[in-house]
Amino acid sequence: MAATSQWLRRHGLGRTAIHEAGHGALAIIEGGSFDEIVLQKTENLNACIRNLKCNKNALVRIYLAGIMAARMARHGWGELFFNTAHDDLGAVAAFAKEWNDTVNILEWHILVTEEHLKEKWGSVEKIAESLIRNRRVTYEEAVRLFEASQAANESRPLGKIGTSGWQPLIARILMKPQFTEAVT
Ligand SMILES: [Zn+2]
Repeated sequence: MAATSQWLRRHGLGRTAIHEAGHGALAIIEGGSFDEIVLQKTENLNACIRNLKCNKNALVRIYLAGIMAARMARHGWGELFFNTAHDDLGAVAAFAKEWNDTVNILEWHILVTEEHLKEKWGSVEKIAESLIRNRRVTYEEAVRLFEASQAANESRPLGKIGTSGWQPLIARILMKPQFTEAVT
């Protein structure tokens, strides 16, 4: 395992940094943009990605990518993954209520996102590392880190999670009021 991965797993802000870097990397992959990612610890908020812009279809995957990247860096699920991602999951649920074949479409978005994150994992880690060191990463810097890490992209997440492994995430999304209030 790469030294960066071990360092990120040990660091107190590692989970949040990987979560935010997941959003950032997916935004770059999907051709979106943002002003900056900021890592800060306040009462309700660990971090944020400012002024995110992307087409609607890809936004779903960018919202999913935070919690998914955090999960891919660890073994197993825990309440912490969901505690810090209320807004993300609510946003995904708001999209999901518009779909007819909700679970299949959600699974499709999740598997596409997992594939992207796996493929660009080295970039996710580089952006996360920079977030911890500098507390903020601009879009331009994120793109630079993303491209620079492509040449030596040897780092991989812990393993493939796949459709069955993502079911706890799907269940949480379908429990969100943004989803349930629309169908009941
Ligand atoms: Zn998030």
